[in-house]
Amino acid sequence: MMLRSVTGVCCLRRSIIGVRYVSSLVHNKAYIDGGWVEAQSGNVFPVNNPANGEVLSHVADMCESDTQTAIDAAHNAFVTWKTTTAKERSVLLRRWYELVETHKTDLAHLMTSECGKPLAEAHGEVSYGSSFLEFYAEEARRIYGEVVPSPHPSKEILFIRQPIGVASLITPWNFPIAMITRKAGAALASGCTCVVKPAEDTPLSALAIAHLAHQAGIPPGVFNVVTSSRANTPDVGKLMCTSPKVAGVSFTGSTAVGKLLYEWCSVGVKRIGLELGGNAVFIVFNSANVTAAVDGLINAKFRNAGQTCISANRILVQSGIYEEFLSSLKAAMMDRLVVGDGAKEGVNQGPLINDNQFRRVERVVERVVSESVSCGAELVLGGHGHELGGLFYSPTILTHVNKHMPCFNEEIFGPIVAIKKFETEDEAITEANCTNHGLASYFYSQDVSQTWRVGRQLEAGMVGINEGLISCCEGAFGGIKQSGLGREGSRHGIDDYTYIKYLCFGGIN
Ligand code: ADP
Repeated sequence: MMLRSVTGVCCLRRSIIGVRYVSSLVHNKAYIDGGWVEAQSGNVFPVNNPANGEVLSHVADMCESDTQTAIDAAHNAFVTWKTTTAKERSVLLRRWYELVETHKTDLAHLMTSECGKPLAEAHGEVSYGSSFLEFYAEEARRIYGEVVPSPHPSKEILFIRQPIGVASLITPWNFPIAMITRKAGAALASGCTCVVKPAEDTPLSALAIAHLAHQAGIPPGVFNVVTSSRANTPDVGKLMCTSPKVAGVSFTGSTAVGKLLYEWCSVGVKRIGLELGGNAVFIVFNSANVTAAVDGLINAKFRNAGQTCISANRILVQSGIYEEFLSSLKAAMMDRLVVGDGAKEGVNQGPLINDNQFRRVERVVERVVSESVSCGAELVLGGHGHELGGLFYSPTILTHVNKHMPCFNEEIFGPIVAIKKFETEDEAITEANCTNHGLASYFYSQDVSQTWRVGRQLEAGMVGINEGLISCCEGAFGGIKQSGLGREGSRHGIDDYTYIKYLCFGGIN
């Protein structure tokens, strides 16, 4: 299939700055009903490179009525998409996966330029993102029903799974590709169509993914991307939750926004999947292998400069191993973490995404420093913006923090390690569970009995046991408490996009 319009591509090629690989993947218009569309108002909003503040592009700023067009397109496309066979959907998803893999390098460079993620990580995310398309291409053919033993000889009872309809997918900037493919892969495999609203900081990756969906032959209207500025987002988001043509919403982002969308969805009793904020605990018990625990913490804390919802947030270290762990961690951070523009070779700590995020991290650290005299907290490393300036923040260690400080009771979303010492297992578990959030948690222990005991007791949707990297398409990603509803990835990711229909066959003699 040919793109309806490529004028936006050429324009962007000229305007994009500092991106080593610029390709036909780069678009600045929304993708609706198989074509590239400007906002009816003609308005655009800027997309910046957080590493240097340069404006990469201006992207269509879609409003409510533009979004209605996308919802209408998805609603119309559902009529035929839901009748496609599982194999047809599987083949298209597989083709999409292969195209993402083929364009991995370009996608990674584009991602680094708009979200600051170091290139190696951006490559990793493209692979992680494409893995959902591959996984759900396979899963599409296994959305089975059930035949249930009937209580009556004259009746047969069957359950079949059917697609819910149009899904609105609202995604964040910290995983600009994977959060889209994780949702859209499951939605399309189920027979749903969708409208994606990517974060205003990272629309280019979303549009590049749309370009590849188009090339893969995903029919017009099945996958749509609506870009909008922060100013238009509340109206766009509200429509995506309340339109009678939308059957369900899937959101990844902050708890505050998630609660708002949940409220909007209640009006039409829509399905909703929420992947919200976390406050992950990372516990190091006396029996831990210190080297493994330090490696695990570096992985669980410093991916995307700490800006992930499953980043280790509260570090609890048992007294018997405390000094050894702290000095190993400090040495590892000083030795391994290289701050800079993620597009440069060897850098593994990019900038924070924007000013808001930078100020938030500064506030978290300042609060600890200001209370250090009264409560014994210590700044062991960093504690300030990096010498490179801009949005770069120095990797930081804070110790003897307490649960009243924002570094412990809020999601930090930055390269800050906040450590508290504890004495007993019970104390650690009580502390770990003392939060309204319950997304990821981690602990290190070589005591087999303890691994089961603690794994059972931690109040979280996901637990990394002697492991700091837990995300994969096979895993059931999701939280409990105020960290969200539903699961993404794994076969359970299909649940949000399907409903069970009960068929009762009577009159069987
Ligand atoms: P963050 O603070 O990390 O940017 P947000 O929850 O604000 O997280 O953003 C996640 C996604 O939610 C983004 O796509 C953003 O545009 C969108 N969003 C933010 N505010 C609203 C809103 N009021 N209604 C709908 N979507 C929103």
